[in-house]
Amino acid sequence: MGSQSFRSDQQAEELLRNACTLADCANPVPQPVVSRTYDKSITRRGVVWLGQTCNLRCQFCYFIDRVGNANHPEHPFMSLEKAKKICLTLVEQYGNTAVDLQGGEPTLFPSIFELIDYCNRIGLAPTLITNALLLDNSDICLRYRDAGVRDYLISVQGLGDVHDGLVGCPGAHRRQMTAIGNLRRVGSPFRFNVVMSKPAVPQLPDIARLAISTGALVVNFITFNPFADQSGAGHRCSDNVPRYSEVRPFLTEAIDLLEEAGIETNVRYFPFCMVEERHRKNIYNFQQLSYDPHEWDFASWGWTGLEPQRRKEGFLSPPLPLVVNRLAVRNKGRLKQVAESIPLIKPVLYRGHQLLSSLVSLFPTDRDRLYREVARVHAQLHCGYRYGEHCRACHIRLICDGFHGDYATLFGTGEAKPVLNEEKPQSPLHYIIGSQSSLVSSQPADNRLSF
Ligand code: SF4
Repeated sequence: MGSQSFRSDQQAEELLRNACTLADCANPVPQPVVSRTYDKSITRRGVVWLGQTCNLRCQFCYFIDRVGNANHPEHPFMSLEKAKKICLTLVEQYGNTAVDLQGGEPTLFPSIFELIDYCNRIGLAPTLITNALLLDNSDICLRYRDAGVRDYLISVQGLGDVHDGLVGCPGAHRRQMTAIGNLRRVGSPFRFNVVMSKPAVPQLPDIARLAISTGALVVNFITFNPFADQSGAGHRCSDNVPRYSEVRPFLTEAIDLLEEAGIETNVRYFPFCMVEERHRKNIYNFQQLSYDPHEWDFASWGWTGLEPQRRKEGFLSPPLPLVVNRLAVRNKGRLKQVAESIPLIKPVLYRGHQLLSSLVSLFPTDRDRLYREVARVHAQLHCGYRYGEHCRACHIRLICDGFHGDYATLFGTGEAKPVLNEEKPQSPLHYIIGSQSSLVSSQPADNRLSF
């Protein structure tokens, strides 16, 4: 199985060769200092959305409506001061040690170098989640490196005109490959994020080959999700969402290629039974997410995901411990709204997060259990994940989220293949622990500062 279904093998090879030429793959480059860990403690990575301003229009963008609407409150970038306050809260209130800086497109944020520098000074290793368009300038790449960017998570949505079509910008692929060449030359580490949209699926093995040739440290394959704006009408349909079973052969080939080359490979939001048994360890669904150091901490994510932390105007909302967030998400935000609407409580919450956390800690909670409960709430309440008829017999149902509700509405759950002859695992890490390693930076003392 290869890329033959969208063009001839010869054309696919030429496309990959051109990409590798642009990314300067023939030249040896400095290697980042990394090591592998099998430690699976809960992630300490946070996320900041600086504003939904972007130079592309990706079809599957979670914020496609906000990016396209300059009047949306989340569209313009926030001030540097506000972004700094959010980052400081991640460190002081949530104990985060790494952060994903997102826009929209964070390289358009006017004060991005200052923010990167600030993150480093307060102990947050900054990653840029980027389309890399503006990194086609090698001087800019040097500036980022010198400002202290930890690494880049580059959105590789396809190769050639497939990428250009999906992101709505002719020439985007060419610029992205030039950018990767620049990053290689200046010695900045990078990982790939790949959304498995229908047009990109046949290219997954070639994207894997590109990752190997360029020296990407990690590749994340992400299911085309109906999160945020994508849940609105008119975005997702059977023309752009592939069936799990369509993805499977291409994903299998891609994972095998990457693993043979020693590249960490993660697959997000994909049912276990839809991959080969040997690849179940690569699956990170809601229950597994918290154990991927490249993913976001539910506690701080629950706070930065709230509107006040995502828009330019207005103050930050009070940070809350996960146990309160958990209650709030269970009640679809009502608890938090009530708390914030009471004038006397609000200032206490603003200043009293640590006090609140200490109070909460008086009542012993199993942290892993709490994170797992939040995962379940996200999957079942927010995303409407469903178990199909076949799931009833499945021995790993407890650790699987099932099929996304929106996917099940589009295609049903008939593809599910119950996993039998298992010991009915209880731990969400059943397939991962001891089998799936993560790359972490060897530079800082704290090895949770992962790539
Ligand atoms: S629970 Fe359902 S979706 Fe999950 S692995 Fe089992 S059969 Fe597949």
